[in-house]
Amino acid sequence: MKGICILGATGSIGVSTLDVVKRHSDQYRVVALTANTNIYALFNQCMEFKPEYAVVVNEAKGAEFKAQIVGTDIADMTVLIGAEALVTVATLEPVDSVMAAIVGAAGLLSALAAAEAGKTVLLANKESLVMSGDIFMQAVHDSGAVLLPIDSEHNAIFQCMPANYTPGHDAPIARRILLTASGGPFRTTPLKDLADVTVEQAVAHPKWDMGRKISVDSATMMNKGLELIEACLLFNMQPDQIQVVIHPQSIIHSMVDYIDGSVLAQMGNPDMRIPIAHAMAWPERFDSGVAPLDIFSVKQMDFEPADLKRFPCLRLAMEAISAGGIMPTVLNAANEIAVEAFLNEKIRFTDIPVVIERAMEKFSATVADTLEYILEADQQAREQAQLIITTLVA
Ligand code: NAD
Ligand code: MG
Repeated sequence: MKGICILGATGSIGVSTLDVVKRHSDQYRVVALTANTNIYALFNQCMEFKPEYAVVVNEAKGAEFKAQIVGTDIADMTVLIGAEALVTVATLEPVDSVMAAIVGAAGLLSALAAAEAGKTVLLANKESLVMSGDIFMQAVHDSGAVLLPIDSEHNAIFQCMPANYTPGHDAPIARRILLTASGGPFRTTPLKDLADVTVEQAVAHPKWDMGRKISVDSATMMNKGLELIEACLLFNMQPDQIQVVIHPQSIIHSMVDYIDGSVLAQMGNPDMRIPIAHAMAWPERFDSGVAPLDIFSVKQMDFEPADLKRFPCLRLAMEAISAGGIMPTVLNAANEIAVEAFLNEKIRFTDIPVVIERAMEKFSATVADTLEYILEADQQAREQAQLIITTLVA
Protein backbone atom coordinates (compact mmCIF):
# COMPACT_ATOMS: atom_id res chain seq x y z
CA MET A 1 0.00 0.00 0.00
CA LYS A 2 1.44 3.39 -1.02
CA GLY A 3 0.66 6.63 0.76
CA ILE A 4 -0.06 9.59 -1.50
CA CYS A 5 -0.09 13.32 -0.79
CA ILE A 6 -1.96 15.43 -3.34
CA LEU A 7 -0.82 19.06 -3.43
CA GLY A 8 -3.55 21.03 -5.19
CA ALA A 9 -6.21 18.35 -4.62
CA THR A 10 -9.13 20.60 -5.53
CA GLY A 11 -7.83 21.54 -8.99
CA SER A 12 -8.34 19.84 -12.31
CA ILE A 13 -5.33 17.51 -11.91
CA GLY A 14 -6.10 16.89 -8.22
CA VAL A 15 -9.66 15.79 -9.01
CA SER A 16 -8.45 13.49 -11.82
CA THR A 17 -5.85 12.02 -9.46
CA LEU A 18 -8.47 11.21 -6.84
CA ASP A 19 -10.58 9.56 -9.54
CA VAL A 20 -7.63 7.23 -10.28
CA VAL A 21 -6.93 6.67 -6.56
CA LYS A 22 -10.56 5.61 -6.07
CA ARG A 23 -10.14 2.84 -8.67
CA HIS A 24 -7.05 1.52 -6.87
CA SER A 25 -7.80 1.82 -3.19
CA ASP A 26 -6.08 -1.56 -2.72
CA GLN A 27 -2.77 0.08 -3.79
CA TYR A 28 -3.05 3.72 -2.71
CA ARG A 29 -4.26 5.44 0.41
CA VAL A 30 -4.56 9.19 0.72
CA VAL A 31 -2.36 10.61 3.48
CA ALA A 32 -2.79 14.33 2.78
CA LEU A 33 -4.87 16.67 0.61
CA THR A 34 -4.25 20.40 0.14
CA ALA A 35 -6.25 23.35 -1.16
CA ASN A 36 -5.75 27.08 -1.40
CA THR A 37 -9.27 28.47 -0.81
CA ASN A 38 -11.82 25.92 -2.06
CA ILE A 39 -12.77 24.39 1.29
CA TYR A 40 -16.12 23.22 -0.05
CA ALA A 41 -14.42 20.81 -2.48
CA LEU A 42 -11.75 19.91 0.08
CA PHE A 43 -14.38 19.00 2.66
CA ASN A 44 -16.14 16.61 0.27
CA GLN A 45 -12.83 15.04 -0.74
CA CYS A 46 -11.83 14.54 2.90
CA MET A 47 -15.19 12.96 3.72
CA GLU A 48 -14.70 10.50 0.87
CA PHE A 49 -10.97 9.68 1.17
CA LYS A 50 -10.42 10.17 4.92
CA PRO A 51 -6.83 11.50 4.78
CA GLU A 52 -4.84 11.95 7.99
CA TYR A 53 -3.97 15.53 7.05
CA ALA A 54 -5.64 18.39 5.23
CA VAL A 55 -3.95 21.70 4.44
CA VAL A 56 -5.70 24.97 3.69
CA VAL A 57 -3.27 27.66 2.58
CA ASN A 58 -5.59 30.62 3.01
CA GLU A 59 -5.75 31.55 6.72
CA ALA A 60 -9.37 32.69 6.90
CA LYS A 61 -10.60 29.71 4.89
CA GLY A 62 -8.49 27.43 7.09
CA ALA A 63 -10.22 28.65 10.23
CA GLU A 64 -13.59 28.18 8.56
CA PHE A 65 -12.61 24.65 7.53
CA LYS A 66 -11.58 23.72 11.07
CA ALA A 67 -14.98 24.81 12.34
CA GLN A 68 -16.72 22.93 9.54
CA ILE A 69 -15.29 19.51 10.41
CA VAL A 70 -16.29 19.61 14.09
CA GLY A 71 -18.75 16.83 14.84
CA THR A 72 -18.30 15.13 11.44
CA ASP A 73 -16.65 11.81 10.45
CA ILE A 74 -13.39 13.70 9.85
CA ALA A 75 -13.25 15.58 13.15
CA ASP A 76 -10.00 13.77 14.10
CA MET A 77 -8.17 14.74 10.91
CA THR A 78 -5.15 17.03 11.41
CA VAL A 79 -5.79 20.38 9.73
CA LEU A 80 -2.80 22.58 8.99
CA ILE A 81 -3.05 26.16 7.80
CA GLY A 82 -0.64 28.26 5.72
CA ALA A 83 1.85 27.76 2.91
CA GLU A 84 4.56 26.18 5.13
CA ALA A 85 2.20 23.28 5.81
CA LEU A 86 2.50 22.26 2.15
CA VAL A 87 6.15 21.36 2.82
CA THR A 88 5.18 19.56 6.04
CA VAL A 89 2.72 17.21 4.33
CA ALA A 90 4.88 16.69 1.22
CA THR A 91 7.65 15.27 3.40
CA LEU A 92 5.63 13.15 5.90
CA GLU A 93 7.09 9.74 6.60
CA PRO A 94 3.98 7.76 5.49
CA VAL A 95 3.94 9.61 2.16
CA ASP A 96 5.56 7.61 -0.66
CA SER A 97 4.25 9.59 -3.63
CA VAL A 98 3.57 13.30 -3.95
CA MET A 99 1.32 14.59 -6.71
CA ALA A 100 2.61 18.14 -7.33
CA ALA A 101 -0.51 19.75 -8.83
CA ILE A 102 -0.50 23.27 -7.44
CA VAL A 103 -0.58 25.87 -10.21
CA GLY A 104 2.36 28.23 -10.67
CA ALA A 105 5.33 29.23 -8.53
CA ALA A 106 3.25 28.67 -5.38
CA GLY A 107 3.99 24.98 -5.85
CA LEU A 108 7.77 25.27 -5.94
CA LEU A 109 8.79 24.86 -2.30
CA SER A 110 6.57 21.84 -1.63
CA ALA A 111 7.51 20.06 -4.87
CA LEU A 112 11.18 20.73 -4.19
CA ALA A 113 10.84 19.52 -0.60
CA ALA A 114 9.29 16.27 -1.86
CA ALA A 115 12.23 15.85 -4.25
CA GLU A 116 14.75 16.57 -1.49
CA ALA A 117 13.02 14.06 0.78
CA GLY A 118 13.46 11.33 -1.85
CA LYS A 119 9.76 10.86 -2.55
CA THR A 120 8.29 9.65 -5.81
CA VAL A 121 7.35 13.02 -7.32
CA LEU A 122 4.48 12.99 -9.80
CA LEU A 123 5.12 16.34 -11.45
CA ALA A 124 2.20 18.24 -12.96
CA ASN A 125 3.35 21.66 -11.72
CA LYS A 126 5.69 22.45 -14.64
CA GLU A 127 6.23 26.04 -13.45
CA SER A 128 8.20 24.81 -10.41
CA LEU A 129 10.63 22.89 -12.61
CA VAL A 130 10.93 25.71 -15.17
CA MET A 131 11.74 28.30 -12.51
CA SER A 132 14.22 26.22 -10.51
CA GLY A 133 15.73 24.13 -13.33
CA ASP A 134 19.03 22.52 -12.40
CA ILE A 135 18.42 22.99 -8.68
CA PHE A 136 15.32 20.83 -8.86
CA MET A 137 17.05 18.17 -10.96
CA GLN A 138 20.05 18.18 -8.62
CA ALA A 139 17.73 17.61 -5.64
CA VAL A 140 16.26 14.60 -7.44
CA HIS A 141 19.72 13.18 -8.14
CA ASP A 142 21.05 13.84 -4.63
CA SER A 143 18.13 12.27 -2.77
CA GLY A 144 17.42 9.41 -5.17
CA ALA A 145 13.86 10.67 -5.65
CA VAL A 146 11.93 9.26 -8.60
CA LEU A 147 10.58 12.03 -10.83
CA LEU A 148 7.69 11.01 -13.07
CA PRO A 149 6.11 13.48 -15.51
CA ILE A 150 2.36 14.03 -15.45
CA ASP A 151 2.24 16.65 -18.19
CA SER A 152 0.70 14.58 -21.00
CA GLU A 153 3.48 15.33 -23.51
CA HIS A 154 6.29 14.55 -21.09
CA ASN A 155 4.55 11.45 -19.87
CA ALA A 156 4.18 10.40 -23.53
CA ILE A 157 7.89 11.07 -24.15
CA PHE A 158 8.80 9.10 -21.03
CA GLN A 159 6.69 6.19 -22.30
CA CYS A 160 8.53 6.34 -25.65
CA MET A 161 12.03 6.51 -24.11
CA PRO A 162 14.27 3.42 -23.95
CA ALA A 163 13.37 0.63 -21.52
CA ASN A 164 14.64 1.30 -17.97
CA TYR A 165 15.04 5.03 -18.73
CA THR A 166 14.31 7.37 -15.83
CA PRO A 167 13.94 11.16 -16.14
CA GLY A 168 17.02 13.27 -15.50
CA HIS A 169 19.39 10.88 -17.30
CA ASP A 170 20.96 10.83 -20.76
CA ALA A 171 19.56 8.67 -23.53
CA PRO A 172 21.98 9.19 -26.43
CA ILE A 173 20.09 6.78 -28.72
CA ALA A 174 17.11 9.15 -28.61
CA ARG A 175 18.22 12.01 -30.84
CA ARG A 176 15.15 14.23 -30.90
CA ILE A 177 11.81 14.87 -29.25
CA LEU A 178 8.74 15.86 -31.23
CA LEU A 179 6.71 17.85 -28.71
CA THR A 180 3.11 18.02 -29.85
CA ALA A 181 0.69 20.89 -29.23
CA SER A 182 -2.99 21.25 -30.06
CA GLY A 183 -2.45 24.89 -31.06
CA GLY A 184 -5.17 25.98 -28.63
CA PRO A 185 -8.37 27.89 -29.41
CA PHE A 186 -6.74 30.57 -31.60
CA ARG A 187 -4.73 28.46 -34.03
CA THR A 188 -6.66 29.78 -37.02
CA THR A 189 -8.17 33.01 -35.65
CA PRO A 190 -7.25 35.99 -37.90
CA LEU A 191 -4.27 37.75 -36.27
CA LYS A 192 -6.07 41.10 -36.24
CA ASP A 193 -8.81 39.63 -34.02
CA LEU A 194 -6.48 38.37 -31.30
CA ALA A 195 -6.37 41.69 -29.44
CA ASP A 196 -10.10 41.43 -28.78
CA VAL A 197 -10.43 37.86 -27.59
CA THR A 198 -12.27 37.50 -24.30
CA VAL A 199 -11.32 35.57 -21.19
CA GLU A 200 -14.10 33.08 -21.88
CA GLN A 201 -12.78 32.43 -25.39
CA ALA A 202 -9.23 32.05 -24.11
CA VAL A 203 -10.06 29.53 -21.39
CA ALA A 204 -12.25 27.38 -23.68
CA HIS A 205 -9.68 24.86 -24.84
CA PRO A 206 -10.78 22.74 -27.82
CA LYS A 207 -9.36 19.44 -26.51
CA TRP A 208 -8.53 19.60 -22.80
CA ASP A 209 -10.52 20.59 -19.74
CA MET A 210 -8.01 22.36 -17.44
CA GLY A 211 -7.53 25.10 -14.85
CA ARG A 212 -7.78 28.72 -16.04
CA LYS A 213 -4.09 29.63 -15.91
CA ILE A 214 -2.89 26.69 -18.01
CA SER A 215 -5.82 27.24 -20.40
CA VAL A 216 -4.62 30.79 -21.11
CA ASP A 217 -1.06 29.46 -21.41
CA SER A 218 -2.33 27.01 -24.02
CA ALA A 219 -4.04 29.80 -25.94
CA THR A 220 -0.83 31.88 -26.07
CA MET A 221 1.29 28.71 -26.47
CA MET A 222 3.38 29.79 -23.49
CA ASN A 223 2.32 26.39 -22.21
CA LYS A 224 4.34 24.80 -25.03
CA GLY A 225 7.23 27.12 -24.27
CA LEU A 226 7.22 26.08 -20.61
CA GLU A 227 6.96 22.47 -21.76
CA LEU A 228 9.95 22.87 -24.05
CA ILE A 229 12.01 24.03 -21.07
CA GLU A 230 10.50 21.23 -18.96
CA ALA A 231 11.49 18.67 -21.62
CA CYS A 232 15.11 19.91 -21.77
CA LEU A 233 15.38 19.41 -18.00
CA LEU A 234 13.52 16.11 -17.70
CA PHE A 235 15.23 14.39 -20.61
CA ASN A 236 18.68 16.06 -20.58
CA MET A 237 18.26 17.47 -24.08
CA GLN A 238 19.36 20.67 -25.78
CA PRO A 239 16.63 23.05 -27.02
CA ASP A 240 17.54 22.32 -30.65
CA GLN A 241 16.79 18.64 -30.10
CA ILE A 242 13.16 19.48 -29.41
CA GLN A 243 10.79 20.18 -32.30
CA VAL A 244 7.39 21.69 -31.50
CA VAL A 245 4.69 20.18 -33.73
CA ILE A 246 1.13 21.42 -33.93
CA HIS A 247 -1.21 18.42 -34.04
CA PRO A 248 -4.75 19.75 -33.63
CA GLN A 249 -6.44 16.37 -33.08
CA SER A 250 -4.43 15.79 -29.84
CA ILE A 251 -4.32 12.02 -30.28
CA ILE A 252 -0.55 11.70 -30.39
CA HIS A 253 0.78 13.21 -27.16
CA SER A 254 4.43 13.45 -28.30
CA MET A 255 7.11 11.38 -30.03
CA VAL A 256 10.73 10.30 -29.68
CA ASP A 257 12.99 10.08 -32.74
CA TYR A 258 15.77 7.45 -32.40
CA ILE A 259 19.18 7.40 -34.10
CA ASP A 260 18.06 4.53 -36.37
CA GLY A 261 15.19 6.62 -37.76
CA SER A 262 12.45 4.95 -35.71
CA VAL A 263 9.91 7.40 -34.34
CA LEU A 264 7.86 6.18 -31.37
CA ALA A 265 4.60 7.94 -30.50
CA GLN A 266 2.24 7.60 -27.57
CA MET A 267 -1.45 7.93 -28.42
CA GLY A 268 -4.67 8.04 -26.46
CA ASN A 269 -7.79 10.03 -25.76
CA PRO A 270 -7.03 13.50 -24.36
CA ASP A 271 -7.75 12.71 -20.70
CA MET A 272 -5.23 13.47 -17.94
CA ARG A 273 -6.18 10.28 -16.09
CA ILE A 274 -4.00 8.40 -18.62
CA PRO A 275 -0.67 10.04 -17.66
CA ILE A 276 -1.73 10.13 -14.00
CA ALA A 277 -2.50 6.39 -13.96
CA HIS A 278 0.67 5.67 -15.91
CA ALA A 279 2.84 7.45 -13.36
CA MET A 280 0.96 6.04 -10.37
CA ALA A 281 1.27 2.44 -11.61
CA TRP A 282 4.81 2.77 -13.02
CA PRO A 283 6.67 0.55 -13.75
CA GLU A 284 3.46 -1.54 -13.95
CA ARG A 285 0.20 -0.39 -15.53
CA PHE A 286 -3.36 -0.26 -14.29
CA ASP A 287 -6.80 0.95 -15.37
CA SER A 288 -7.20 4.72 -15.66
CA GLY A 289 -10.95 4.76 -16.21
CA VAL A 290 -10.48 6.29 -19.68
CA ALA A 291 -12.45 4.78 -22.56
CA PRO A 292 -10.39 2.93 -25.21
CA LEU A 293 -9.31 5.04 -28.16
CA ASP A 294 -11.69 4.65 -31.10
CA ILE A 295 -9.10 4.85 -33.88
CA PHE A 296 -11.76 5.00 -36.61
CA SER A 297 -13.20 8.18 -35.14
CA VAL A 298 -9.78 9.85 -35.49
CA LYS A 299 -9.94 9.70 -39.31
CA GLN A 300 -7.11 12.14 -39.86
CA MET A 301 -3.99 13.39 -38.08
CA ASP A 302 -2.42 16.69 -39.11
CA PHE A 303 1.02 18.10 -38.25
CA GLU A 304 2.23 21.63 -38.84
CA PRO A 305 5.04 23.86 -37.56
CA ALA A 306 4.25 26.49 -34.90
CA ASP A 307 3.98 30.06 -36.22
CA LEU A 308 6.14 32.21 -33.92
CA LYS A 309 4.47 35.41 -35.19
CA ARG A 310 1.09 34.13 -34.07
CA PHE A 311 2.56 32.74 -30.84
CA PRO A 312 5.26 35.18 -29.61
CA CYS A 313 5.14 33.57 -26.14
CA LEU A 314 6.64 30.42 -27.63
CA ARG A 315 9.44 32.49 -29.15
CA LEU A 316 10.09 34.16 -25.78
CA ALA A 317 10.34 30.77 -24.06
CA MET A 318 12.82 29.63 -26.71
CA GLU A 319 14.88 32.76 -26.07
CA ALA A 320 14.75 32.21 -22.31
CA ILE A 321 16.00 28.62 -22.48
CA SER A 322 18.74 29.58 -24.93
CA ALA A 323 19.89 32.41 -22.68
CA GLY A 324 19.72 30.13 -19.63
CA GLY A 325 20.52 31.24 -16.07
CA ILE A 326 17.63 33.04 -14.41
CA MET A 327 15.83 33.81 -17.71
CA PRO A 328 13.37 30.88 -17.49
CA THR A 329 12.55 32.03 -13.94
CA VAL A 330 11.94 35.58 -15.20
CA LEU A 331 9.85 34.32 -18.13
CA ASN A 332 7.68 32.21 -15.84
CA ALA A 333 7.17 34.93 -13.24
CA ALA A 334 6.29 37.62 -15.81
CA ASN A 335 3.92 35.20 -17.50
CA GLU A 336 2.10 34.42 -14.25
CA ILE A 337 1.58 38.13 -13.60
CA ALA A 338 0.51 38.85 -17.19
CA VAL A 339 -1.95 35.94 -17.29
CA GLU A 340 -3.46 37.00 -13.98
CA ALA A 341 -3.90 40.55 -15.32
CA PHE A 342 -5.55 39.18 -18.46
CA LEU A 343 -7.88 36.95 -16.42
CA ASN A 344 -8.81 40.02 -14.35
CA GLU A 345 -9.48 41.94 -17.59
CA LYS A 346 -6.73 44.47 -16.87
CA ILE A 347 -4.82 43.83 -20.12
CA ARG A 348 -5.62 42.43 -23.56
CA PHE A 349 -4.71 38.95 -24.70
CA THR A 350 -2.05 40.36 -27.03
CA ASP A 351 -0.51 42.34 -24.15
CA ILE A 352 0.60 39.11 -22.46
CA PRO A 353 3.73 38.62 -24.62
CA VAL A 354 4.44 42.38 -24.51
CA VAL A 355 4.59 42.31 -20.71
CA ILE A 356 6.83 39.25 -20.69
CA GLU A 357 9.21 40.55 -23.36
CA ARG A 358 9.63 43.94 -21.68
CA ALA A 359 10.17 42.27 -18.31
CA MET A 360 12.80 39.95 -19.80
CA GLU A 361 14.63 42.96 -21.25
CA LYS A 362 15.25 44.18 -17.68
CA PHE A 363 17.29 41.10 -16.77
CA SER A 364 20.48 39.41 -17.89
CA ALA A 365 21.06 35.68 -17.81
CA THR A 366 23.04 35.44 -14.57
CA VAL A 367 23.70 31.96 -13.21
CA ALA A 368 20.83 30.55 -11.14
CA ASP A 369 22.88 28.63 -8.60
CA THR A 370 20.93 28.97 -5.34
CA LEU A 371 17.27 28.74 -4.45
CA GLU A 372 17.46 32.12 -2.71
CA TYR A 373 18.72 33.75 -5.89
CA ILE A 374 15.94 32.15 -7.91
CA LEU A 375 13.27 33.29 -5.48
CA GLU A 376 14.70 36.80 -5.63
CA ALA A 377 14.71 36.81 -9.44
CA ASP A 378 11.12 35.52 -9.38
CA GLN A 379 10.10 38.35 -7.05
CA GLN A 380 11.89 41.05 -9.05
CA ALA A 381 10.40 39.81 -12.33
CA ARG A 382 6.92 39.95 -10.80
CA GLU A 383 7.51 43.54 -9.72
CA GLN A 384 8.78 44.51 -13.17
CA ALA A 385 5.81 42.86 -14.86
CA GLN A 386 3.37 44.69 -12.55
CA LEU A 387 5.08 47.97 -13.36
CA ILE A 388 4.88 47.32 -17.11
CA ILE A 389 1.19 46.49 -16.77
CA THR A 390 0.52 49.87 -15.14
CA THR A 391 2.13 51.60 -18.13
CA LEU A 392 -0.06 49.59 -20.52
CA VAL A 393 -3.24 50.30 -18.61
CA ALA A 394 -2.52 54.03 -18.28
P1 NAD B 1 -6.26 24.36 -11.19
O1 NAD B 1 -6.32 25.83 -11.22
O2 NAD B 1 -7.44 23.58 -11.63
O3 NAD B 1 -5.90 23.88 -9.70
C1 NAD B 1 -4.87 24.46 -8.98
C2 NAD B 1 -4.72 23.85 -7.61
O4 NAD B 1 -3.68 24.55 -6.93
C3 NAD B 1 -5.96 23.97 -6.72
O5 NAD B 1 -6.08 22.82 -5.91
C4 NAD B 1 -5.66 25.18 -5.84
O6 NAD B 1 -6.26 25.09 -4.56
C5 NAD B 1 -4.15 25.10 -5.71
N1 NAD B 1 -3.56 26.43 -5.54
C6 NAD B 1 -3.74 27.53 -6.31
N2 NAD B 1 -3.02 28.57 -5.83
C7 NAD B 1 -2.37 28.11 -4.74
C8 NAD B 1 -1.49 28.71 -3.80
N3 NAD B 1 -1.14 30.00 -3.88
N4 NAD B 1 -1.03 27.94 -2.79
C9 NAD B 1 -1.38 26.64 -2.70
N5 NAD B 1 -2.22 26.02 -3.53
C10 NAD B 1 -2.71 26.75 -4.55
O7 NAD B 1 -4.97 23.94 -12.03
P2 NAD B 1 -4.70 22.60 -12.85
O8 NAD B 1 -5.23 22.74 -14.22
O9 NAD B 1 -5.08 21.41 -12.04
O10 NAD B 1 -3.11 22.66 -13.01
C11 NAD B 1 -2.25 22.36 -11.93
C12 NAD B 1 -0.83 22.23 -12.44
O11 NAD B 1 -0.77 21.11 -13.34
C13 NAD B 1 -0.35 23.43 -13.25
O12 NAD B 1 1.01 23.64 -13.00
C14 NAD B 1 -0.55 23.02 -14.69
O13 NAD B 1 0.37 23.63 -15.57
C15 NAD B 1 -0.28 21.53 -14.59
N6 NAD B 1 -0.93 20.75 -15.66
C16 NAD B 1 -2.28 20.71 -15.72
C17 NAD B 1 -2.92 19.99 -16.74
C18 NAD B 1 -4.42 19.90 -16.82
O14 NAD B 1 -4.94 19.18 -17.67
N7 NAD B 1 -5.17 20.57 -15.98
C19 NAD B 1 -2.14 19.32 -17.68
C20 NAD B 1 -0.75 19.39 -17.59
C21 NAD B 1 -0.15 20.10 -16.56
MG1 MG C 1 0.94 19.47 -21.50
